[in-house]
Amino acid sequence: MPNSAALRTTNHTGRLILTPCDATAAPDSAALIAALTHCQCIGAPLSNSMIPEPRKFTIGAQFFTLVSFTGCAVNIATAGSSSFCHVYLPPLTATPILYSGRNTRPPRCPYCRCRVVDWRERFHSAVNSPLLTVQCPQCAMLAPLLQWEWKQHGGCGRRLIVIEEVFPHEATPSDELLAQLRAVSGEPWRYFYMQE
Ligand SMILES: [Zn+2]
Repeated sequence: MPNSAALRTTNHTGRLILTPCDATAAPDSAALIAALTHCQCIGAPLSNSMIPEPRKFTIGAQFFTLVSFTGCAVNIATAGSSSFCHVYLPPLTATPILYSGRNTRPPRCPYCRCRVVDWRERFHSAVNSPLLTVQCPQCAMLAPLLQWEWKQHGGCGRRLIVIEEVFPHEATPSDELLAQLRAVSGEPWRYFYMQE
C-alpha cells in the first residue's frame, strides 16, 4: 500500500458531518433517530456505557444507497476494528460550535467572498463562539462567523449526524437522505468533512 495507508493509521481518517443549514436549529434527536432507522440508514445501537441513551449506531441495510461512496480504493470496514463505519449523534450543544480540522480551508466572507487565509488567528475569539461577529478585512462588513462560507471543509451547528470514518469527499449523502432529514426536521440540511 502507498504511504497514504500508513498515514491513515496514525491520523484521524475523517468524518462526514450532516447538520441543518441554520446552524442554530436544534431538531429533536429521537425523531431523527426514528427517521434514520425507518429508512435503514442506521441499524442497531452500539452499546456505550458512557452514554445512557443509544446515540451510536451501526450502518443500516440501506446505508450505501443513502450515502454514496466514490473512489477506486475505498475500503469500508463495517466491523472488527475501532474505526469501522458507524453513525453517531453527539449531544445537542447549547449554542452552535465551529467544527474545523486540518482539512478546513479559509472561509469566505458572506458579502465580498474574499478568503481570509489567517482566519484562525484573526478570528480567534469567534472560533470558539461562532455566533460572535467578525469583521471582514477586505470589505469591512460584519457577520457572525457561522454565516461565513465554509463549503464542505468545515461548518457550524448544534445538532449533528456524524458518520465515521470517512475520508473527505469519499462519501456524499444522497438527495434522498437530505430530503428525509428535511422532512423530519422541517429544516434544509448541509454536510461537510472534518479531519482532526
Ligand atoms: Zn468581505
